[in-house]
Amino acid sequence: MTYVARLFSDPGDAVEHVDHEFYDRVTLIDAGENTTRITCSGCDGDIDLEWLYDLIEENGESFDNLDVTVPCCGAVVSLDALRYDWPVGFARFEVSAMNPTRAKYELDDQELADVAVLLGHPVTQILAHY
Ligand SMILES: [Zn+2]
Repeated sequence: MTYVARLFSDPGDAVEHVDHEFYDRVTLIDAGENTTRITCSGCDGDIDLEWLYDLIEENGESFDNLDVTVPCCGAVVSLDALRYDWPVGFARFEVSAMNPTRAKYELDDQELADVAVLLGHPVTQILAHY
């Protein structure tokens, strides 16, 4: 992703690594330690993060189908419809920038919109901390 690489290559900015990856199946792009809470979109109940980790352990990080039965109310909900206190993504394409030290850490709305236009697909920014 030349565009993203360029965003991180302004003078004074430094990024260790800009990478991109295609996945065969929809894959969880997690936010590392940033996500601490999941809330059900059906019943507003809290869902233990452990539940998601267990799911990933069983299933791997890629999914043919995002529909899951949530533990709180037993509803079948799409994983990307649950509410996360810190955004995570489910995607087949990922561009990542490791340890960016831009003056501004995140891409702003305009930059995200530019990336979306370039890809021809809406994008979500995941700020991950490990
Ligand atoms: Zn629920």
